[in-house]
Amino acid sequence: MVDVFRGSEFVVPIAEDAVKIGAKVLWMQLGVRNEEAAKIFRGFETRAIHAGAAPDPTTGARGTPIYQTTAYVFDDVDHAASLFNLQTFGNIYSRLSNPTTSVLEERIANLEGGRGTTCTASGHAAQLIALFPLMQPGDKLVASNKLYGGSITQLGKTIKKFAWSCDFVDVDDFDKVRQAVKDPKVKCIWAESLANPGGVVSDIRALADIAREAGIPLIIDNTMATPYLCRPIEHGADIVVHSTTKFISGHGNAMGGAVVDSGKFDWSKSPDKFPSLSHPEPAYHGLTFAETFGDLAYTLYGHAVGLRDLGPCMAPINAYLTLLGIETLPLRMERHCQNGLGVAEFLTKHPKVSWVSYATLPDNKYLPLAKRYLQGKGGSVFTFGLKGGFDAGVKVVENCHLLSHLANLGDTRSLILHPASTTHRQLTAEQRTAAGAGDDVIRLSIGLETIDDIIADLDRPVGQVSL
Ligand SMILES: *Cc1c(COP(=O)(O)O)cnc(C)c1O
Repeated sequence: MVDVFRGSEFVVPIAEDAVKIGAKVLWMQLGVRNEEAAKIFRGFETRAIHAGAAPDPTTGARGTPIYQTTAYVFDDVDHAASLFNLQTFGNIYSRLSNPTTSVLEERIANLEGGRGTTCTASGHAAQLIALFPLMQPGDKLVASNKLYGGSITQLGKTIKKFAWSCDFVDVDDFDKVRQAVKDPKVKCIWAESLANPGGVVSDIRALADIAREAGIPLIIDNTMATPYLCRPIEHGADIVVHSTTKFISGHGNAMGGAVVDSGKFDWSKSPDKFPSLSHPEPAYHGLTFAETFGDLAYTLYGHAVGLRDLGPCMAPINAYLTLLGIETLPLRMERHCQNGLGVAEFLTKHPKVSWVSYATLPDNKYLPLAKRYLQGKGGSVFTFGLKGGFDAGVKVVENCHLLSHLANLGDTRSLILHPASTTHRQLTAEQRTAAGAGDDVIRLSIGLETIDDIIADLDRPVGQVSL
């Protein structure tokens, strides 16, 4: 074991020396993490299993323990004071940080190529914690009009209670985005790498350039693609958010979210634009996050103010389940994509199916972007149009047996949903169509079962649709 309590710039030579003398573990915590050093040992699969984790120093436990504790003892009063003043990194209370969750945070930051991560109770909590350091009352964001339905509601309606607001635009139309971010109240651009449903892929590089010109960060929801298919920070994104509930944990058993900061955005460049980060913080004796913590400012604000005051921390057991899931992320994503494409190709040939919207089918207009940003893969969540409309949709979801009829995504199990009769039921027919949830739309999240079984389970009820 080699401990490196040094500045980030010292880490690379120390890591190289450590490899030379046969060190098995290089344990880089927040504050000493370094991108170049993080890459010395490891490919993506290796990092998905090892990043952020080390054998437990007191018990030798190889797996990451579930630290099911609320609070942590202080060495003495001075130690407590330095923790509370953010002069020492350490655990105080699990609402702010927890050792199991810290391993997951470190792992996700590593896989995304980010500087630090804040894990949260759910994906929606992550979105709130992502915006909290950026926004003041009266501020706005510009978001893609093709987001996860829950995000449209959160950003379009609920955040108004904080006196924040959101302009939704077509992010394929760069002129519209450029126009929308001219308003100095706009504090970030928000889009999904791979949007669910519909096989929509965002041009991350182009959006990052627009954000940079406007002096604001680009936030990418990378839930559908996962860092296995896409690492938005490599394409210029400043912040990445996840619902870890989906593919990252991957087994449909643990709610969670993550906010990953690239550490590259300079918050003090225009200090009045992001006062939470670049003005003195009264709750911490007037320290300025950007000045004191540099490239960790946003992540530390997420913990020390966001989680502390809003409270949506991830449960340690969920961090554990998510760590367990993430170890097989590369294997699972390969099979999810393979099965997803297989089912999409089957449906395109089906006489009762009018259209299939999957990112890497040859007729999808986003295919070139899928090649550029998703390694030519399309994930496993997509929609198709059923001839026969509303009633046919209801029959199909009710007559699948292997595919579960429910509103989740990114499970090992295959899932099916007819949005018009469930999640979008309260809308009018016109609103449903505008939201991509017309009467004929079926949404699938293809799991890891044997592909022939998945296809057979769909083929029977789809084949029975009467026209
Ligand atoms: C599910 C989802 C969310 C919300 O996450 P929860 O964990 O359900 O709160 C946000 N964005 C996308 C793309 C999602 O699929």
